[in-house]
Amino acid sequence: MSDPPPRAGKPSVAEYAAGVRACDRMLLGRALTLIESNTAGDQRLAQELLIELLPYTGGARRIGITGVPGVGKSTFIDTLGSLLTQRGHRVAVLAIDPTSGVTQGSILGDKTRMARLVRDPQAFVRPSPSGGSLGGVARKTRESVLLCEAAGFDVVLIETVGVGQSETVVADMVDCFLVLMLPGAGDELQGIKRGILELADVIAVNKADASPEAARNAKRDYSAALRVMHGAGGGEHDWQVPVSLVSGQSGDGVEQLWTKVQEHRAALQQSGRFEQKRREQLRGWMWSMVERRVLAALHEHPAVRGLAPQLEGDVLAGKLTPTLGARALLEAFGIEP
Ligand code: GDP
Repeated sequence: MSDPPPRAGKPSVAEYAAGVRACDRMLLGRALTLIESNTAGDQRLAQELLIELLPYTGGARRIGITGVPGVGKSTFIDTLGSLLTQRGHRVAVLAIDPTSGVTQGSILGDKTRMARLVRDPQAFVRPSPSGGSLGGVARKTRESVLLCEAAGFDVVLIETVGVGQSETVVADMVDCFLVLMLPGAGDELQGIKRGILELADVIAVNKADASPEAARNAKRDYSAALRVMHGAGGGEHDWQVPVSLVSGQSGDGVEQLWTKVQEHRAALQQSGRFEQKRREQLRGWMWSMVERRVLAALHEHPAVRGLAPQLEGDVLAGKLTPTLGARALLEAFGIEP
């Protein structure tokens, strides 16, 4: 028996929508490619598809996972994801890798990193969209989350690496932001970006199997730092950011960590913050796209570009105040200063 011949041309929006809803892997993959495409035609189609699918979105637990390269993200996600599919969840893994497309091999793009999950029929692993600005990649990933939800995945894990602004971008699109740390890296909290602790909803010290004592010390240090940061009362909105010890490799502590993620969700829901957070994210998403576009238009504007070098020079030479320079640029752009 030979395979049926491939259908000519692109599927219609209705065919895409039905395929995604049925979790047809081929059509889901093609729909994601549509979302990742930069051509105007594909983008229009992608938006039509998203409108069709919006009623079926929002149902997943959206979880962001970050940590420096080598902290064990892919090993951990493989273990956590497998645990969840065993429990009857359907798990999608997406990634935001700001380095993909910049360097040859991306840090997060390699599917072979999650050996068990890529073969798990209840899981779906999609490498990071490559190329474009972080803002563009963020849009693609947000829309990919919606597609995965419409396809029935009830857990969406979004992986990112601690580079540039990607952590903030991911934290802004998830319900729970999980930060993986290395034991030992917490020594006096040197080199730990304070910002990352502020973004974290749950912290896990990974590879606790390899150096249990260093892991316990790191847990103590992070807990102390969080107490200082959030005050004795705990984290924002009555949520005390927990610090767990885990080993993605052996699986120790991963189940308990998942319990923490569940507790975080319950706390958000009880306080009414869950809905509020999702709504703020939607509003922020829309405005961030507008703001990025307006900013790009400003910098591309011929009159602005023509004036800018002279004005910058005058400001730097002390001949013009920054305020007057800004006014001149805004006028050149055509808006009231
Ligand atoms: P990623 O770059 O953050 O995705 O990290 P990987 O999951 O690729 O892991 C980096 C290295 O650490 C690999 O050699 C793993 O085998 C190892 N590793 C990952 N998780 C653990 C763990 O829980 N314990 C130990 N001892 N090693 C681990």
